Amino acid sequence: MSLTRTRILVTGGAGFLGSHLCERLLAEGHDVLCVDNYFTGRKDNIAHLIGNPHFEAHRHDVTFPLYVEVDQIYNLACPASPVHYQFDPVQTTKTSVIGAINMLGLAKRVGATILQASTSEVYGDPTVHPQTEEYRGNVNPLGPRACYDEGKRCAETLFFDYHRQHEVRIKVVRIFNTYGPRMHPNDGRVVSNFIMQALQNQDITLYGDGGQTRAFCFVDDLVDGLIRMMATGPEVTGPVNIGNPHEISVRELAERVIRITGSASRIVHRPLPQDDPLQRCPDISLAQSALGWRPKVELDTGLRQTADYFKRMLAAADSPASQ
Ligand code: NAD
Ligand code: UDP
Ligand code: UDP
Repeated sequence: MSLTRTRILVTGGAGFLGSHLCERLLAEGHDVLCVDNYFTGRKDNIAHLIGNPHFEAHRHDVTFPLYVEVDQIYNLACPASPVHYQFDPVQTTKTSVIGAINMLGLAKRVGATILQASTSEVYGDPTVHPQTEEYRGNVNPLGPRACYDEGKRCAETLFFDYHRQHEVRIKVVRIFNTYGPRMHPNDGRVVSNFIMQALQNQDITLYGDGGQTRAFCFVDDLVDGLIRMMATGPEVTGPVNIGNPHEISVRELAERVIRITGSASRIVHRPLPQDDPLQRCPDISLAQSALGWRPKVELDTGLRQTADYFKRMLAAADSPASQ
């Protein structure tokens, strides 16, 4: 029996990204403590891990203090979809800001290395393209997205202040749009919306003219980037962009989803939400040089795997056992 297992806390561990991360960390031989308040996460996401003696799930809201003994912390707790983070914007900011203070206080007390899941949203509606880590962003501090964007910006500030003031070992990654199995089917994000609509031959809801761009990273690539970031030496604090630099318009994404699923859906237009960024694409030069990381999964391959997951969910919902 190994006496040197690393004890790792994953906040938001029952969410989309967090559940994949917990799975990978367990597979690598670590002890994993998943902490989640199940606001957008689901027990189903981690059901297959329950019973593993090296996995523990704890219902807890990170806006309250947490006293545990761990070696590493991945701080992922925060709703990520605009629909969810705008549902209770005050709680969203509290989760990012008070959650960061509590997790940094914990890291400081136990001497853990702590990684923050920051976001491309810190760049707002960018005027520099593609976005490098030096770009300081163009965020509307008063708009409906601000609770998320400004909360994450403040969390980054706290990370760097705890690093400078208290010598906490920090890692900050800025995650760009990520998709894959275990996305919440109703979370309103574009990939889950389009695939769910296509699989049910419903209208595909394109916001605005669909000319706005995003770059989509498959979840396995993303998790690989997070783990590589945590493995870097103390001199690497970030921020480091993690995302797939293959930029496409949202209209092209809709067309691809229709083709891949063989759907009879039509594309319909809906109003563009306020402050919806026009263009987004990461410059990943730093991730390549500092982490030796680049995404490997092609968009069509990842979309097929995601569509297969949603197909299984729909089939399970239709089965007599679930009636
Ligand atoms: P998600 O909504 O599936 O996961 C977030 C998890 O955090 C959920 O399980 C939720 O229940 C939990 N949570 C929320 N508030 C909490 C609180 N106060 N206390 C404890 N748990 C809480 O979203 P995701 O896509 O897995 O995102 C994970 C992290 O990555 C988030 O911090 C998000 O901001 C960041 N991120 C994700 C993307 C993406 O495209 N998926 C992009 C940029 C950044
Ligand atoms: N904290 C926590 N777990 C710990 C240590 C601290 O949740 O193991 C919280 C605690 O509630 C505190 C916050 O983290 O308010 C910030 O901790 P810090 O030591 O920086 O500040 P202080 O305790 O002086 O307020
Ligand atoms: N979008 C869309 N139809 C949808 C959901 C989203 O056209 O059903 C657009 C949205 O306006 C944005 C892009 O797709 O331009 C990505 O939206 P998402 O909410 O997934 O993430 P964001 O990158 O905006 O945080």
